[in-house]
Amino acid sequence: MMKYRSFSLHNFRQIPQMEFLTEEQKFNIEVVGTVLPFKTNNYVVDELIDWENFEKDPFFILNFPQKEMLDEASFSKIANLLKNNVPKKELQNEVKKIRLKLNPNPAGQESNVPVLNGKKLTGIQHKYRETMLFFPSQGQTCHAYCTFCFRWPQFALNEFKFAMKEADTLIEYLKANPHITDVLFTGGDPAIMKTRFFESYFNALADADLPNLKNIRIGTKALAYWPYRFTTDEDAGDLLRLFEKMKRKGINIALMAHFNHPDELKTDAVKEAVKNLLAAGVQIRSQSPVMKNINAHPDIWARNWREQVKLGIIPYYMFIARDTGAQDYFAVTLQQCWQIFRNAYNQVSGICRTVKGPSMSCSPGKVQVVGVSEINGEKVFVLNFLQGRDPSWVGQPFFAKYNPDAIWIDDLEPAFGESNFFFEEEYYEMLA
Ligand SMILES: *Cc1c(COP(=O)(O)O)cnc(C)c1O
Ligand code: SF4
Repeated sequence: MMKYRSFSLHNFRQIPQMEFLTEEQKFNIEVVGTVLPFKTNNYVVDELIDWENFEKDPFFILNFPQKEMLDEASFSKIANLLKNNVPKKELQNEVKKIRLKLNPNPAGQESNVPVLNGKKLTGIQHKYRETMLFFPSQGQTCHAYCTFCFRWPQFALNEFKFAMKEADTLIEYLKANPHITDVLFTGGDPAIMKTRFFESYFNALADADLPNLKNIRIGTKALAYWPYRFTTDEDAGDLLRLFEKMKRKGINIALMAHFNHPDELKTDAVKEAVKNLLAAGVQIRSQSPVMKNINAHPDIWARNWREQVKLGIIPYYMFIARDTGAQDYFAVTLQQCWQIFRNAYNQVSGICRTVKGPSMSCSPGKVQVVGVSEINGEKVFVLNFLQGRDPSWVGQPFFAKYNPDAIWIDDLEPAFGESNFFFEEEYYEMLA
């Protein structure tokens, strides 16, 4: 069994590979790691990161805070406070101010929290008719933290935590909403939970009479950050058997796996984990955002999809990075995302083209950048809802004025001199 060792701000200097870093580089990690969540582990450090070339290594950048992830003013503020060894309280006050400037709750996630019998269900988000998100309270951390993560307030700011304790409310909500076919366990990373927690949730779902429930999905980065969860961890076998059992009961288990880079698929451990999951009848689908400094090149994506399909994983979504946290460090324009998507899509066979995107998960829905076109002499972005708060919005192309600098839907305006996008009036009514 591989022993899990976690590293964060207080002990990262014990990582043997820190000898590759200068004192200044280590201090920079400390400064940025004081503001943004920082956690890595022995698998990422020993198996994924290429230390000979760590400054450009995607996995180093994915886990270790980088100086440029804070603006200069914030960086020097925190650096000075640390150098002067100020009282913890003073440091925390400053840290809090900076975090609140980093848009800790993007895309109005708060507005997806449903109310049942007058009670706010803080462990649930329900935005798209068929699929509800469930945040089990034991799954609100991860095997390592991604520096781009939009869930970062859950780790850093407790008051934003969306987590729920019991299965009863989950089932009550599903019974009250029979059009829900999918429950998506999310976090954090639910795969951090011990199998006994999965058992209690899954057994409750299987035992409740829920004829409409077809899919249990698990959104996880464990295949990339801790594949031993499905191989040699103490309760890995029990988890695989639980998946098999659910499958026998007619409920499909889909692992929504987060793979940012094809090299996450290179180790023996991840290959074995994928094999075990497939043998247990689990579907594995993959998704990732496009990020500068990590994967902003079509060849990386093409290689990722090809490798995935070879292992039996189904490419599912390419996302556009959210407007949160260290977004400037990772941001890729909509125009570039589209180019990356099509130049990757162009070079793979149809069997890889199950992937959808590039898509922005914004408050009205998942908006795909279909492409750039010219209509009656006006250059436009062609956009399309892949998911919408109102399902009838899906599949109706709409148009925004072309803007080569746009990185998010907020930067776009309707084309052809119109004052609103077609969905806006209804959207604002829904929020009111
Ligand atoms: C992406 C997402 C889902 C799942 O959408 P699918 O297109 O069915 O994969 C569900 N709820 C929310 C809030 C989402 O962002
Ligand atoms: S594993 Fe997922 S939830 Fe956890 S830090 Fe990374 S992106 Fe965020």
